[in-house]
Amino acid sequence: MKKYVDVIVPLPIASQYTYSLPSELEESVQEGCRVVVSFGRKKFYTAIVTRVHYTAPEGYETKDIEEVLDSSPVLLPKQFEFWKWLSTYYLCTLGDVYKAALPSGMKLESETVVVYNEEFEATHPLGDSEQRLLDLLSADKEQYVTQLQRSMGLKNILPVVKRLLDKEAIFVKEDIKRQYKPRTEARVRLANPNLDETGMMKLFDSMGRAKKQLTVLMKYVELSGWAGRGGHLKEVTKKELLEKAGATTTIFNGLVDKGVFEVYYQEIGRLQKSGITTSASHALNPAQQEAFTSILDNFRQKNVCLLHGVTSSGKTEIYIHLIEEALKAGKQVLYLLPEIALTTQITERLKRVFGSRLGVYHSKFPDAERVEIWQKQLGEEEYDVILGVRSSIFLPFKRLGLVIVDEEHENTYKQQDPAPRYHARSSAIMLASMYGAKVLLGTATPSVETYFNATNGKYGLVELKERYKDIQLPHIERVDIKELAHQKRMQGPFSPMLVKEIHDALDRKEQVILFQNRRGFAPMIECHTCGWVPKCKNCDVSLTYHKGLNVLTCHYCGCTYQVPRSCPACSGIELQHRGFGTERIEDDIKLIFPEAKVARMDLDTTRTRSAYEKIIADFEQGKTDILIGTQMVSKGLDFQNVSVVGILNADTMLNYPDFRSYERAFQLMAQVAGRAGRKNKQGLVILQTKSPDLPVIQQVIRNDYEQLYFDQLAERQLFRYPPYYRLIYVYLKHRKPDVLDLASETMAQHLRTGLGDRVLGPDKPPIARIQTLYIKKMIVKVEQTISMAKVRDYLLAVQRAIVEDERFRSLIVYYDVDPQ
Ligand code: ADP
Ligand code: ZN
Ligand code: ZN
Repeated sequence: MKKYVDVIVPLPIASQYTYSLPSELEESVQEGCRVVVSFGRKKFYTAIVTRVHYTAPEGYETKDIEEVLDSSPVLLPKQFEFWKWLSTYYLCTLGDVYKAALPSGMKLESETVVVYNEEFEATHPLGDSEQRLLDLLSADKEQYVTQLQRSMGLKNILPVVKRLLDKEAIFVKEDIKRQYKPRTEARVRLANPNLDETGMMKLFDSMGRAKKQLTVLMKYVELSGWAGRGGHLKEVTKKELLEKAGATTTIFNGLVDKGVFEVYYQEIGRLQKSGITTSASHALNPAQQEAFTSILDNFRQKNVCLLHGVTSSGKTEIYIHLIEEALKAGKQVLYLLPEIALTTQITERLKRVFGSRLGVYHSKFPDAERVEIWQKQLGEEEYDVILGVRSSIFLPFKRLGLVIVDEEHENTYKQQDPAPRYHARSSAIMLASMYGAKVLLGTATPSVETYFNATNGKYGLVELKERYKDIQLPHIERVDIKELAHQKRMQGPFSPMLVKEIHDALDRKEQVILFQNRRGFAPMIECHTCGWVPKCKNCDVSLTYHKGLNVLTCHYCGCTYQVPRSCPACSGIELQHRGFGTERIEDDIKLIFPEAKVARMDLDTTRTRSAYEKIIADFEQGKTDILIGTQMVSKGLDFQNVSVVGILNADTMLNYPDFRSYERAFQLMAQVAGRAGRKNKQGLVILQTKSPDLPVIQQVIRNDYEQLYFDQLAERQLFRYPPYYRLIYVYLKHRKPDVLDLASETMAQHLRTGLGDRVLGPDKPPIARIQTLYIKKMIVKVEQTISMAKVRDYLLAVQRAIVEDERFRSLIVYYDVDPQ
């Protein structure tokens, strides 16, 4: 009987596809393995097998799969369950989930661009087609797989590409240039291992006038500790030897040819750093101990528990103790952090205790490294603790027992674009329940949804109200900048009080953090005469001005534009800057404090992980006096010498048109405030605002989370928002505005037939056109008591009818479930 496989392809198509198995591959395929399939016109993709069976599909002729890539599954059955849940709950395809889950190196396709690795040295002979591919790639170092395929005249080269990737002869091209770390290292030893002193002297003499070679040999003797050896030599890498001896490869090769040295290769496995010594975790103080015990108690009845602890109360210490507890029980732990909070600080704290049992999974790591972690988790020597960002929920786990979601309120846990638009906190809770694992949510400023669940008994709740060693919370001083602006007493974005406090702090050799919210506050250009603002041609957004490059850029599509000399609307030449971006603030602060060392931390200055870490390290070590930054400065950082924090403009957060804007503003302000005065004394926060009388400002000053929560809850109920209602945003996109209008009206009508006034819209979203596509948005608000499964089915049925309608050809429909 003919065998078939169902596979997931990395394409946004609705269902799984069935392929037939050629008889020679029948035995080698298992569920969870990757296979190469052709799809569409001559395109090849890596697909994942979800089922092997004997039933031919109805309605289409199956094609044979081309090749099997794995001898054992790379996707475990539990992971596949999880993928199915994600695609159902977040209304996206399994292909979307697959694309988000696997690192690029594991999902090659014809459109993949591969890059030649200059540093590759083969340790074993390569196969014919491997060598040919490599030769082609060395001539032109970056190529599409399709392009290589054509040049080689082969039908499908993905398996060859995979083998070369495994050997790290090539890489998958990624957006950010990453540092390559070799996996094997060339090391040097004497060709004659039994050489004695006399032999060595003879060698020296034999060098004669080859001075350079002599230097290299002497350097080797020194580095290896040859002279004082007691049968034991230190290993010497070729790289180090050449560097220290100031020699070239040619000189070195001369010595190899003479039979003095030989080169050998050592696996260094970039993941485990050898020789990590671990030390015991800190003992908990009484308040922490009580919280710890209480969390364990809660876990006896509940699967999820919230640890609500003020900043610097030692939540991280408690997590460490919980991890130890889980490890003792033979379980694995997943420790989630928001992208921007994953710093060396936290990595080092955990490394110190868990050593080589800890693996770190970060989207800014090289793809090859992510592939290696994935493979390691499938093997016998998997990490027991994974510290990672959002996407680490996709890693294979075999015995997950605990998930920690640190800074659980962070909205960066939600993936915005592309699909799956999943929330890592909610998804982690689902993942944990599939493994029977517990979840700890930790934060100083819980999300309203989580606090709601924790206070109504769905989750456990543990509070930690004192800071470690009773360091006081900062004093918050509010400054009315509207009034000051009126009196013309502002110096750019700084109030006199802030300027004075910065001054005093610098005098005392203390550090300052200035916080400027990024959202809705990008620097722009505006015509002074008529108010014209430059906008992107493809997207409906105003352009951001970059002073450094002197260009205008669109943050949605990345297009850049020249700064116009005059206003195209009125020909006026007075184009002025509006808004204070962090860059502008940096300029202004340097004018007022020319002596101070200033650094800026925002999206532009932290494109790479090393750039980000350098800014933090410099600030930690006191090389920087003033750190200016966006929300990035507020996250999970523990600085010792910051006495003043300035919040430059609270209103940009408060005025943002979103039902969560107050909640978020509170969280942000409380978090940045928490950076002040951590170890030695009470810190000072200067909170500048145009609306000093707003209740939320008072709540920040009193650190009164409960009051904020009750105010928010009342509003959410009144206006039908979470946690009382679930939200689903429905987006429609089309190139033609009139088609879009008709399609969205039609879809809204259909939706209302079944869902009534739960459907709002269609409306133009704030950004109504992105990359030449027009956008309409509908909102569906569903009360908690109604079955979401039914609502989802209904949405999908309506969508099918609309998409199949001839008039709406090439209409794009997608959803954002639980939008943030
Ligand atoms: P949080 O995560 O609540 O912000 P941290 O765990 O970062 O707090 O603790 C703040 C600081 O206090 C850290 O430098 C941490 O090392 C220290 N600390 C907290 N608890 C302890 C403890 N039990 N023993 C030693 N140091 C502690
Ligand atoms: Zn104008
Ligand atoms: Zn654009």
